[in-house]
Parts: sequence; structure tokens; C-alpha cells
Amino acid sequence: MARFLCPACGTAYPADRPLWHCDCGGPLDLEPGQGLRRSDIDADDASLWRYRAALALKESPRVSLGEGWTPLVTRHWDGAPVRFKLESQMPTGSFKDRGTAVMLNHLLQVGVGPIHEDSSGNAGSSIATYAAAAGLRCRIYVPASAPRGKVVQIAAAGAEVRAIPGTREAVTEAALAAIGESFYASHNWHPYFIEGTKTLAYELWEQLGFAVPDNILVPTGYGSNILGLDRGFDELIRQGEISRRPRLFAVQAENCSALAAAWAVGAADYVPFTPTATIADGIATVKPVRTAEVLAALRRSGGGVVTVSEAEIGPALKTLGRLGLFVEPTAATAGAALSRLLRDRTIRPDETTIVVLTGHGLKATDKIAELLDLH
Ligand SMILES: [Zn+2]
Repeated sequence: MARFLCPACGTAYPADRPLWHCDCGGPLDLEPGQGLRRSDIDADDASLWRYRAALALKESPRVSLGEGWTPLVTRHWDGAPVRFKLESQMPTGSFKDRGTAVMLNHLLQVGVGPIHEDSSGNAGSSIATYAAAAGLRCRIYVPASAPRGKVVQIAAAGAEVRAIPGTREAVTEAALAAIGESFYASHNWHPYFIEGTKTLAYELWEQLGFAVPDNILVPTGYGSNILGLDRGFDELIRQGEISRRPRLFAVQAENCSALAAAWAVGAADYVPFTPTATIADGIATVKPVRTAEVLAALRRSGGGVVTVSEAEIGPALKTLGRLGLFVEPTAATAGAALSRLLRDRTIRPDETTIVVLTGHGLKATDKIAELLDLH
């Protein structure tokens, strides 16, 4: 039986119950996983469940929409060969399905009824879709300003949509107020979401012929992909399958960059900053739940935080489109960041570099139309 551990107060709980936070109020972690050896991979399963030997679930999954095992394609970017990881080709069009699928199977195994969640869009779409597949009632709180394509996707899955006016924090408060009515299946709080995103590390390792890349760039808001990559590569090191970590680069929009604000002053945890609007809605996170853990993972990897301006996002999105990679503005930030890191020689063209494309362009056609000057 896996256990939840609280990094703040040290309390441990068996992971046999639907918990989303510690009694002290802090977020919980899953204790370090055992990982797997390459011989444990179920190579006949073309989904993230090929790595189920490494997942802290007590039973086989009950719900899957074929998530994971996404393409890794090579294109040239500013003259350098780069591998793009198409998380945009998940069942709901974003990387969130890794975390959602594993979290929801855990919740089914420990017995939850109706669930709810707050999201700016992609996580809401993902959780609404997997709840539908599992036959669970689901309510999603979204900002009134959430992109229409994402809200339509949530509604199409049969979830109840509650649009909350005001700030992103007001949306979270509405979700917290509903805790008595249904289980808060929060992708930002629940440790099994990161148990799911860790399969990105396994997949990159396997798709590179069981090798470790040098650099991974990830559009980052709350940091669940950074924490998942850290966890996955850590498990592979402890199993003796690899001997080093890749450098992880969290990419943020300059206009809303909580991690960059802390990184710039060498802080170990959150520091206040003033956010402004960004077209990269999926990473417009004012206060990440696990800021300290994300910063520690980036430092451990030897990578860092990169911010990109609004003016850099549109050109990167257009360049990606012309490479056959149609992504939402949030995902295009990683292309802009790669240009920056190649230019200042932080990344060399002969290194193995991964750019994680986190969300599909069809989710944000209104915003992309603006970037392309379509009327
Ligand atoms: Zn605690």
C-alpha cells in the first residue's frame, strides 16, 4: 500500500482513501515510487499503462481512453534538430490526460462519488471527460473568461459548468466552498495527478532508445509536468536504468510568472509578484500550490525558469504551425523559450532537446485567429 506524506508536517496516511490535502492544510506527496526496469514495460500496450508496474495503484485501471504513448517527432528549430513531444495528441487534446487518468483510477479504487474541480480549461476538459468515461457525476468551475473551446469541451462531456466571474482565485474559492457536496478532484492538489504525469519521463526515455535527453522544455503554470518528470527520472535512477537527470526548463509567460519571480531572487518558495494578462491562459498561474517543490526540482536538474514576452508567443506559434505542429498559445511559449536558450547558448544544437507541446491548437482558435490577424 502506497502512502501519502506531508512535506510540511511529516504526517503519513495510507493511500487507501480519497484525500486531497493533509489535516494541516498543506499538499500531500506520494512517497517515492519503486519505478521499473525496462523488462517490466508492457510493450503491447500503446498507452501510458505500458508502465503500470511503476504506478502506485492497487488494481488494474478501470477507465482508459488510450492516453499516453504520444508521438515524439524531430523538426529543425533555428537550425537545431529538436524533438517535439506531442502531448497535444492526447484524448482530450492536452497533457492533462496523463495525470487525470491515473488520478481518476485511484479515486475509483478508493471509492469516490461525484467529483468537482476548478480549472482554466484543459484540466477541466480532461477531468470532465474521464468522469464521463467512469460514469461519475462532475462539476467544473471555470473562470468566466475561460476559452470557449475548452468550456464547450467540458459541457460536451456532460459535466456541469459553473462560470465564475472575477479572478482565477475566485474560481478556486468557489470550488473549495463545494467540498461538502462532492470530492474535490483537484489536479493541482492531488498527488496521484503527478503519479500520472511521471509517465512522461518513462515515455521519453523509452522513445529515445532508453536514453536520457539533455534538456526538456515545458510550458509551466502549477508545474505538474516538472514534478512528474522529476519523479519519473528519479525512479529510473534508483532502479539503475539511467545515471543522470535531464535539465528541466520551466517556461512561463513574462506577464504571469510566479516561478520566475522566485527564481530571479534565489528564493526557495513563493514570492509575491504582480501578474498581468497573457494569451498563454493555460499557464497564467498566480500562486502554484507546490512552488517550493517545483523550484527544488528545477535546481536539482541543473535547468531553470525561462520567461517569454507576449510578442514572442505569436511568432513561435506561427513557426510551429508551419512545421506541422498546431498548438495553443500556451504550448507555443516553449518554442519561444527554445529560441532564447539556443541564442544565449544555454542549449547547444548538438544536445538532445525535447520540447513538450502541451495543448492542441483547436482548443484556442479564437486567440490563434487574433495572432494570425484573421478577421
Ligand atoms: Zn501536514
